[in-house]
Amino acid sequence: MARKQTEENPQLFKMRHSAAHLMAAAIQQLWPEAKFGVGPPTRNGFYYDIDLPQSLSAEDFPRIEEKMRELRKAKLPYVRREIGIDEAISYMSEAAQPFKVELLNLLKEKGTTAVAKETGDDSMAATSAGGDGQGADQVSFYETGSFVDLCRGPHVEHSGEIGAFKLLNVAGAYWRGNEKNPQLQRIYGLAYKNDQELKAEVQRLEEVKKRDHRRLGKELEIFTFADDVGAGLPLWLPNGAVMRKELEKLATEFERRDGYQGVITPILAKEDLYYRSGHLPYYKDDMYAPIDIEGQKFYLRPMNCPHHHLVFSSTNRSYRELPLRLAEYGVCHRYEASGVLTGLMRVRGFAQNDAHIYCRYDQAKEEFKRVMSLHARYYDLLQIQDYFMRFSLPDLDKLDKYVNEPDRWIAAMNIVREAMEESGLPFEESPGDAAFYGPKIDFIIESVVGNEYAISTNQLDFLATERFDLRYVGEDGAEHPVYVIHRAPLGSHERFVAFLLEHYAGAFPTWLAPVQAMIVPISDRHVEYAQEVRDKIFGAEVPTATGGARVEVDLSSERMQKKIRNAQVKKIPYMLVVGDAERDAGEVAVRHRSGTDLGKMTVDAFVERVRQEVKARRDLSL
Ligand SMILES: [Zn+2]
Ligand SMILES: [Zn+2]
Repeated sequence: MARKQTEENPQLFKMRHSAAHLMAAAIQQLWPEAKFGVGPPTRNGFYYDIDLPQSLSAEDFPRIEEKMRELRKAKLPYVRREIGIDEAISYMSEAAQPFKVELLNLLKEKGTTAVAKETGDDSMAATSAGGDGQGADQVSFYETGSFVDLCRGPHVEHSGEIGAFKLLNVAGAYWRGNEKNPQLQRIYGLAYKNDQELKAEVQRLEEVKKRDHRRLGKELEIFTFADDVGAGLPLWLPNGAVMRKELEKLATEFERRDGYQGVITPILAKEDLYYRSGHLPYYKDDMYAPIDIEGQKFYLRPMNCPHHHLVFSSTNRSYRELPLRLAEYGVCHRYEASGVLTGLMRVRGFAQNDAHIYCRYDQAKEEFKRVMSLHARYYDLLQIQDYFMRFSLPDLDKLDKYVNEPDRWIAAMNIVREAMEESGLPFEESPGDAAFYGPKIDFIIESVVGNEYAISTNQLDFLATERFDLRYVGEDGAEHPVYVIHRAPLGSHERFVAFLLEHYAGAFPTWLAPVQAMIVPISDRHVEYAQEVRDKIFGAEVPTATGGARVEVDLSSERMQKKIRNAQVKKIPYMLVVGDAERDAGEVAVRHRSGTDLGKMTVDAFVERVRQEVKARRDLSL
């Protein structure tokens, strides 16, 4: 497993940030009335949010790029100036830059801008922020030619140092991420050291586009949305339902070996439960509004934990029962603003590969290690090579902000750290990011085209014990608190299938493929034999989640080549061509979707191949 390099190259970051300024400078020359929001560097370039009197499109990019090249050639210096905040405010007011004035006022009052958190752009933070809510009195400006920006930097010396760039696209973006604010135009650009690296990124992005899960989800008939159901609530089509069943079967088998037991709990509960869990009022904004039933308020659950805690506490627990591992592909609903909903990636309803492990303190490390190795087994199976783990810790100086018991925090943290170290999986520590109820480990996986997906979060929780009175009777006959481990290695079906669509470009391994084989009769007179073959494969024992091999006959009136092409477009692993020769010999001519001809074989031999692939969840080599 390769450890993901998460730290941006600071040199490249600086150059990209400078490219953002360069684009803004070019746009200001082309449209002097432009009003500028924020313009941070990104993973592969930069963007700038700009208010313009006209909507830009890709057709405008050559003009802007031309101007940028001109300014680059002029080797304009990036000049830093520190000025008093009031002077800065009056400068930006005179320059008719209302967004900059708003940011400056925030800096003046609070010493920081909320937008810096939302966008990850701290470039406009004050140089002398008082911190902790105190206002700033000095800020820095950067001048590039006639363009002046509120910015902390750093920047390149002059625009001649900016490498290869290309404008990518333009999208609407609400000012400071708030739908109530005006919508600006966010112009994205790529920036790389040289043309070669830029070209490689352009190619990668083309591949990403081809693998877009929304596009593939439609083409392969995995999921859809309906206005009358609502945004963010996917309808899973038969092909998508197959994938969910296979993933659940996989989880059930892996979890069985690790001693999990399944539970099934309702998707909603009375408000009392969520007061007890702390979701109300702390998490209320992320929940659906309550449903009134006979005068009582019920909420759709945002998480499965409270229900599972009640399963744990439904009876007195003895130390002999621990660890108790309760698993459920639990359905949750969370409110997400309609503007951020994205295919299956950001939804309002989802089914989570959830489980809660209730254990003694002395069992926690071992249990956590098991959870870590469970992840590794899934990733190995799914050919996910690039992943990394982020270990979120509290800010140790502010421990009392999280919970008034630093000792328990430190104990929990040490357990997780030891488990991570002993499991041998590389991880990075991220201080200050912990959830209030305990340390957590996030797995971030990368698809083959390099997009990162935050799929799984694991937590060691010592607070649930208090809120839900989760205890067991020890060997000593006394009651003791448990640790709860929250884990969801496969994330939600929604996000995970989005990932898998991109990762495999829809060409799933046989065990996961919604249709595993398409029988292609060469002409009408072969239909009868095709159906015989179909029935034989259908009736064979193959250990899929759907009770047998998934096989269909192409009964369309298309020509054979077209039928083969159609099956390939649907990314069906196998095409079984049947004509006179195959019928007479009782065989099928097997072609793989890659175009490889596997030759003729008996139906039994073909079934055996599929059986092996399904059983091992690995495709045989061609
Ligand atoms: Zn800047
Ligand atoms: Zn949980």
